[in-house]
Amino acid sequence: PFGWSKRPYPRLFIPGPTEVRPEVLQAQAELMIGHRTKDLEDLFAAIQAQLRRLYETKYRVFVTASSGMGQQEAAIRNGVRDHVICFVNGAFSKRWSEVAAGCGKRVTRVDVEWGQAITPDLVADALRTHGPADAITVVHNETSTGVLSPVGEIAAVVREIAPDTFIFVDAVSSFAGTRIPFDEWGLDVCLTSSQKALACPPGLALAAVSDRVLERAKTIEGRGWYFDYLLLEKYLQRNTTPSTPAISLLRALHVQLTYILDEEGPANRYARHAELAEMTREWALSRGFGLFAAEGYRSPTVTTVANTRGIDVGALNTFLKSRGMVISNGYGDLKNKTFRIAHMGDTTREEMQYLLETIDEFLGG
Ligand code: PLP
Repeated sequence: PFGWSKRPYPRLFIPGPTEVRPEVLQAQAELMIGHRTKDLEDLFAAIQAQLRRLYETKYRVFVTASSGMGQQEAAIRNGVRDHVICFVNGAFSKRWSEVAAGCGKRVTRVDVEWGQAITPDLVADALRTHGPADAITVVHNETSTGVLSPVGEIAAVVREIAPDTFIFVDAVSSFAGTRIPFDEWGLDVCLTSSQKALACPPGLALAAVSDRVLERAKTIEGRGWYFDYLLLEKYLQRNTTPSTPAISLLRALHVQLTYILDEEGPANRYARHAELAEMTREWALSRGFGLFAAEGYRSPTVTTVANTRGIDVGALNTFLKSRGMVISNGYGDLKNKTFRIAHMGDTTREEMQYLLETIDEFLGG
């Protein structure tokens, strides 16, 4: 019904990069402009205003030409003088601890089993046992396991027990797929990538950053240059960036943010993600599969199906590709034991339904 089998590339149901709407792709084909121009400043200012709305913040949102990992590193370099507690419940939270260690910081790693969430109680215990710390890192939505941790509640606990400890959140695969009210939750850094629930091409990282992080950054040496928050802030005040921005990607982002904020509306977007997640979970359980993520913490943007039926995941994807679609196998050690169906970005109910019906065809065949 969607003509996907005639496309040169399959329709993406993987947890990033996600499918990008034609209007957004086309925005990148606009004529090039100089970066020290009023045109660029106007574009940058418009995006800044849009991002503050979507993050629900009065602070700033840095936009850098990098993938999300760049902003993971930026948070560590600018906000951690000595010690950081990294909560690990999957591949990307583990990576953040490696980034921190790579930046020469003292890292306390607190691990929970993959599939479990980081809970406020765990964070409270860790702060009491291992504190003081300059910051904690937590991944909102572990893309490797499909677990969403309650970041709002975690932040409340940190603010109460250790008010000087910053709360750094990776929302790479949740931002724009579920509500993240930055100021209301009292976050200090919340970063994301363009290619996930925002449904833009890869290449941009975004990070909302609180004032108090900038204050501390002034006292921290070795912030580097490319991701120095103070330098980014200085240029942001003039609606531009220290080095040449990814102009085509910024245009794509602007078109997509206009769609999200003014056409679909954030509340509708979050509700759609929740509905598609529910639909996918119901489908998995009714077909005799399990759900890998702990109950109560299941992601609105990606479902990790426990392959309790022992199906050949590779063969499933080969079949899906012949119909013009693709999903993801499990991450790392979870390969074949799980598979991941993403419902992030601009996917509609009808598109999701069609994917699930096609998987049914494979299962029945
Ligand atoms: N954090 C999470 C939760 C992710 O899912 C990913 C990528 O899948 C990353 C970080 C890394 O993002 P990027 O590839 O944009 O650097």
